[in-house]
Amino acid sequence: MENKKWYTLEKKDVSKVLKTHLENGLSSEQAQEKLKSHGYNELVGKRGQTIWEMLLEQFKDFLVLILIAASLVSILIGEVTDSAVIILIVILNAVLGVIQESRASKALEALKKMAAPEAKVIRDGHIKEIPARELVPGDLVLLEAGNYVPADLRLVESMNLKIDEASLTGESVPVEKNADIVFQEEVPLGDRTNSAFMGTVVSYGRGKGVVVSTGMNTEIGMIAEMLESYQEEDTPLQKKLAELGKILGIASLAICGVVFLLGLLRGVPVLEMFMTAVSLAVAAIPEGLPAIVTIVLALGMQRMVKRHSIIKKLHAVETLGSTTVICSDKTGTLTQNEMTATRIYTDGKMYSLSGEGYRPYGEFTFDNSKIDPKADAHLQLLLTIGTLCNDAKLEESGTEKDNEKSWRILGDPTEGALVVAAAKAGIYTSDLEKTMPRLQEIPFDSDRKRMTTFHPAGQGYVAYIKGAPDVMLNLSTTIYKSGKVVPITDEDRKNILEANHHMATQALRVLAIAYKDVNAIPQEPDPADIEKDMTFVGLIGMIDPARPEAREAIRVCKGAGIRPVMITGDYKDTAVAIAKELGMLEDESRVLTGAELDTLSDEELTAAAKDVSVYARVSPVHKLKIVDAIKKNGHIVAMTGDGVNDAPALKKADIGVAMGITGTDVAKETADMILTDDNFASIVAAVEEGRVIYSNIRKFIFFLLSCNIAEILIIFVAMLIGLPVPLKPIQLLWLNLLTDAFPALALGMEKKEPNIMNRPPRKPDEPIMDTRMKWQIAIQSTFMTVSVLGVFIYALKFTNGVEAARTYAFATLIFSELLRAYTSRSETYSVFSIGFFANKFMVGGTVISFLLLLIVLYVPYLRGVFDTTFLSFYDWDIIVAFGLIPFVAAEVSKIFLRRN
Ligand code: ATP
Repeated sequence: MENKKWYTLEKKDVSKVLKTHLENGLSSEQAQEKLKSHGYNELVGKRGQTIWEMLLEQFKDFLVLILIAASLVSILIGEVTDSAVIILIVILNAVLGVIQESRASKALEALKKMAAPEAKVIRDGHIKEIPARELVPGDLVLLEAGNYVPADLRLVESMNLKIDEASLTGESVPVEKNADIVFQEEVPLGDRTNSAFMGTVVSYGRGKGVVVSTGMNTEIGMIAEMLESYQEEDTPLQKKLAELGKILGIASLAICGVVFLLGLLRGVPVLEMFMTAVSLAVAAIPEGLPAIVTIVLALGMQRMVKRHSIIKKLHAVETLGSTTVICSDKTGTLTQNEMTATRIYTDGKMYSLSGEGYRPYGEFTFDNSKIDPKADAHLQLLLTIGTLCNDAKLEESGTEKDNEKSWRILGDPTEGALVVAAAKAGIYTSDLEKTMPRLQEIPFDSDRKRMTTFHPAGQGYVAYIKGAPDVMLNLSTTIYKSGKVVPITDEDRKNILEANHHMATQALRVLAIAYKDVNAIPQEPDPADIEKDMTFVGLIGMIDPARPEAREAIRVCKGAGIRPVMITGDYKDTAVAIAKELGMLEDESRVLTGAELDTLSDEELTAAAKDVSVYARVSPVHKLKIVDAIKKNGHIVAMTGDGVNDAPALKKADIGVAMGITGTDVAKETADMILTDDNFASIVAAVEEGRVIYSNIRKFIFFLLSCNIAEILIIFVAMLIGLPVPLKPIQLLWLNLLTDAFPALALGMEKKEPNIMNRPPRKPDEPIMDTRMKWQIAIQSTFMTVSVLGVFIYALKFTNGVEAARTYAFATLIFSELLRAYTSRSETYSVFSIGFFANKFMVGGTVISFLLLLIVLYVPYLRGVFDTTFLSFYDWDIIVAFGLIPFVAAEVSKIFLRRN
């Protein structure tokens, strides 16, 4: 059934074969059943690594192999327990590595699912949004500009539908579709104009189609039999860390080589010294770093999801931390996008409209006295056009509050406000459509800033048009005044512009309404042809309140050295009014309109972009220019967008941010990040999380490096000054297991520091280890070396034997490393001021690590294996005293850092 030539079938036959209804779609039960038999609508990629493959991967490490080989050799010469335990620890380490990696990839997987595309379907007679993977053959799918076609469809309706099929056929010009054609014979893919194919993009118009094949049975699925699974490229940070890891690896190997030679010179048996050197290298090289970084990035991304942003590309997390400019749309992002029409200007009069939200009840007043809108022909016409030239639907939402029905809008809130305003005057779309159905349309787009629909009227036809007032006024030659159509005068224009200005300065969003008689319904309506010589009817102004949380977010931005910039298609006065309300604009001169922008050269725009905070009346092409100009000034730009035309600007920006609710698939696909609540405040929250993640990554790198360098120094210096080897190989490996994984991960979960949003943005090219950190690492590892060697020398003198002294050194090193983890929790704040026990993971991780230390000290059998001796309370006094030295040093050096 899957490979039927659907394009040769009549619509009704398609619906018969697929047992669906061309108006109501499938029922939920039918869909459930079909899902069982057809499976999910997804392209099956290459499978990921299995656990065993991951485990094997862990043993491919050169050093680990040497360690295992060396252990096997020592087993052969009789050191059975020691070597067996070493192998056990190596295996344990590998298992831990696998757990970390699989957690990381699971977290990334989960995030990818969240960003998965949705499809608009009709099921049980209702429009629903469902995950595209749940589509089944027979589903009735709605398409509009900006949508990805979610499965292969046989179209049943098309309104100026054009689809870009480049991804499938390579053809770069969008294909015009026509649902009414039926092909008699076989035609190639590119010519099947009554069908739409999975993965292609609707570039214009609207349509409806029946799903005929899903998943791997679609045309694209059959081409790409086995799709390579999408491999995320490493982020700049990951690359930098890999680089760092390599350098550290080579350096530690070199030093371990020297240690080995020094040991031999000092007469330590070859195998023993070899094992020590290799174990030291294994302990010192932070092999878990990449996995921990991925986990921290992924967990940070999960926290961001709770704060309403989905990160699609890992690198965005880092870039967020260095963002210096956030360019945001106004409508819906800085405002609530809950429009309510409050003013109407027609026939020279300004009317007011009462009522809140989408409840279709309210009164019309003129000069403070109530009027009957039905008795006013001008109001009637204006509201009729507003509600018919409209794609929004008003619905009872089913929930009742305070014994009152509640209402909601399906579609664009701007249009919703018009439907509600008309309903308040008793004008309902459903009634009007009986005599004036829509016969053709020119859809809205942000470049034209207007929309037209065609309807029958009397003996002929009429085009109803609504759009941006200035644009509409320029295209009108006549005006409906005192019940008659007369040529529009300069006086009229002046009055209209004044009324527009008056409403806009009150932060109202204003639309103009007009119409035009036409003789026939054009097959392919050309906007340039139709949308001119119109008859102007009036203006309608709606409030779209600023989001209360946006004001606070803008304040935070400014404190964080980030400049918020508004880029809107709306009228300048409206934009300025909202920007002032939000505290974005202190000085009115820093506003630029699209028309003004067009007169500037690239250099002039770059110069202007330094202090323009509001761009008004812009179209998507301007957005691209604006991002470019801001970037040229050396900024890192985050930019929001929702429409198809916004995609280039989203791509150009350092971080493209798509709207989750109102955004098109294309915008979401191009973006690096999606806002699930379309809210500006969520971008700022994401920036904050980005900063936190980066600073946490710095923290655990700081921690790991200072500890690992100390480990090398301890053995190296001991060899140099003629001491016995202070730590046995098995102790080094145990230490590595205890102190690397848990505390480092816990540092990755550290909560934000209080001043995280009071610092300037991080420079993108800043190395992860700056001079300050290098110094701090040097200081810390020196103090740790001094304290461990100090305790070792002390114990050699005052206790009995090397074994006891090693136990002292071993316990002191672990103790001081665990404390080191606590001091690493902030680079500048004292650990007491951020709450010593505030990080639960840290407390848990260090307690487990410490218990693991106690086990090898106090379980008699393990004491034998780990070559440790019993430690009394008195011994612990000494160990704690020495172990505290690096801790005190770290906290004291923070005091100096804070002073500077
Ligand atoms: P922002 O860019 O901040 O989201 P916006 O919603 O005003 O602002 P666009 O959607 O590009 O930006 O709209 C541009 C202009 O087109 C609007 O200011 C309005 O005048 C007009 N307009 C918006 N929606 C419609 C519509 N559905 N029908 C007709 N005209 C519209």
